[in-house]
Amino acid sequence: MLKRLSRRYETQTMLESLANRRHETPFQILIATMLSARTRDEVTSAVSDALFSVYSTPKTLARAPLVKIKALIKPINFYKGKAKRIREVARIIHENYADTVPKTMRELDSLPGVGPKIAGCVCVYAFGLPQIPVDTHVHRISNRLHWVKTKTPEQTQIALEKIIPRKHWLIVNELFVTHGQQTCLPRNPRCCECVIAEYCPSNKCRF
Ligand code: SF4
Repeated sequence: MLKRLSRRYETQTMLESLANRRHETPFQILIATMLSARTRDEVTSAVSDALFSVYSTPKTLARAPLVKIKALIKPINFYKGKAKRIREVARIIHENYADTVPKTMRELDSLPGVGPKIAGCVCVYAFGLPQIPVDTHVHRISNRLHWVKTKTPEQTQIALEKIIPRKHWLIVNELFVTHGQQTCLPRNPRCCECVIAEYCPSNKCRF
């Protein structure tokens, strides 16, 4: 199924994907991912560009006035809380990690506002380290495929790590997010266009 989805969406290799990411440094990927929660991709991208054009490093963001950060990220949802958290994360990385984003799930997960999903995204997209970040798409599709039977993304992550060989972990998030945005939509999945429909117990195209 992963192979079919890769062919369908012509998923880039992770190296190509990393090279093409607009927010290139691990710190910028971390902050952009924190900003992206419950916000449309295009808004996150524009806001991240605006923020990084002024404060692009842990040191500069840690020392930025909160009112200026809020003004720069105002278009995104929950901008007030996010402004506080990204500045605090910048301060911790500047002071405790010598301006270098940590690479372990444990260290990333301990940063304020950084849960397993964001930590996993940073491992995958900033460092190319195998993790399975589980967002709403990965959670929904894994359950529709009956790969897991879980109620929360956290449970899904643990369950997926048990059944998906580690060599495929890097690509799962990218594939399922794309599949979830284009075909396996939250409300009306396009099962009749789906390249893995024949394997899917939730396929509605049969009826
Ligand atoms: S068959 Fe339908 S429910 Fe199953 S993965 Fe494809 S789009 Fe999603």
